[in-house]
Amino acid sequence: MVKIVGAGLAGLASGIILAKNGHEVTIHDKAESVGTVVDDTQAIRNYEHDKDQLEIFREEGIEIKHAKPIYNIIKYAPSGRSMIVHSENSKPIFYALKRGKEDVSLETQLYNQAKNAGVCFHFNSREDIKTTDAEILSTGPIHNNIWAFGGIYKVDRIDPETILFFMNNDYCPKGYIYVAPYGEREVTVAATTFDIKCKLPLLFSKFLKENGVIKEILKDAQLLRYTSGYSYSNVPKTAEVNGKRLAGSIAGFLDPARGFGIKYSIWSGILAAKSIIHNKSYDKLWKSAFEKELIDGMKRRLILEKMENQDYENMILDDKVGITRYEKIPSMLRNKMLQMQIFLEMNKFRRTYDIKKYLTT
Ligand SMILES: Cc1cc2nc3c(=O)[nH]c(=O)nc-3n(C[C@H](O)[C@H](O)[C@H](O)COP(=O)(O)OP(=O)(O)OC[C@H]3O[C@@H](n4cnc5c(N)ncnc54)[C@H](O)[C@@H]3O)c2cc1C
Repeated sequence: MVKIVGAGLAGLASGIILAKNGHEVTIHDKAESVGTVVDDTQAIRNYEHDKDQLEIFREEGIEIKHAKPIYNIIKYAPSGRSMIVHSENSKPIFYALKRGKEDVSLETQLYNQAKNAGVCFHFNSREDIKTTDAEILSTGPIHNNIWAFGGIYKVDRIDPETILFFMNNDYCPKGYIYVAPYGEREVTVAATTFDIKCKLPLLFSKFLKENGVIKEILKDAQLLRYTSGYSYSNVPKTAEVNGKRLAGSIAGFLDPARGFGIKYSIWSGILAAKSIIHNKSYDKLWKSAFEKELIDGMKRRLILEKMENQDYENMILDDKVGITRYEKIPSMLRNKMLQMQIFLEMNKFRRTYDIKKYLTT
């Protein structure tokens, strides 16, 4: 019998893998159903590995459907200059996914797979994460160091294969604003920042009023609902506390530079399950799978926190660039990195957001 606390992406992924491998699994969640945390369109990156990310999950036993492929990014500097970043081999750069309670949402899809595999759910069942006897904790962020705020809109038509990013400290300090379509008629426009004390909703609405590109996209659009939430990123020394495996964003498993956590939540959920199935060290599994990616992301974040509007201008390389060139950190960023005592800052960050502080009684 394996007990999991939290029926988010990480907990559901763990449950599916454990149940498929013959374990009896119960998942407790404080909410009345899955999909209560976020209700928007989110993106999963698909360019850091040669292999398709959804194919990787499929091979592990997790099936993700209703993902809309994105082949282009348009990145805007504060002046309005832009560059198109395109896929080079017809492989999507991102997938857009629905979150929330709808049938096509990621949570509902994983929930159905977990139920079919035999997982037993207890909703309206809050557990104390310090004292629970669960083997896996996947309750979402316990610290806040990333904040997102935005809206979901119905539009006449939007290019469903292009995601937009706007970098401008006047509207989103230490972060970026994104436009993520889900098909041709629905779009999420939101801002993500590391500056969790800034007046994000105010700055965001100013951006909507003043930015020409957004005004055109949202002309005649209908606001369906707002979206908002905090996330937590870190590279923990260990994700096994008091004999419990921490999976997903409770452990800080989220790309520190961009706030993308879906991939790491599902991945760490799979690895927490595998560590139980094969009686292996969970720390060893996640560290060999993605610790380096998280450390690289954290270095980027520490640099991005120091970016000024002129730096964003310098990041617009050309009118059109391939994804491979885009992924390489421009030399300007490398110079900034050399000026910083990056490892000292990284250690300070890791100490500040240590998960043990919250989990030891
Ligand atoms: C507005 C916003 C936009 C985002 N956009 C993106 C994006 O575009 N791409 C991307 O990759 N990531 C994005 N993220 C991050 C992503 O949503 C998270 O990384 C991911 O949802 C974390 O999954 P999780 O399973 O760790 O936790 P969650 O999804 O937070 O699930 C945790 C579950 O645990 C339950 N729970 C909590 N406490 C208890 C308790 N004590 N007892 C029982 N149950 C409990 C909750 O009810 C919930 O169901 C975004 C986040 C936000 C807030």
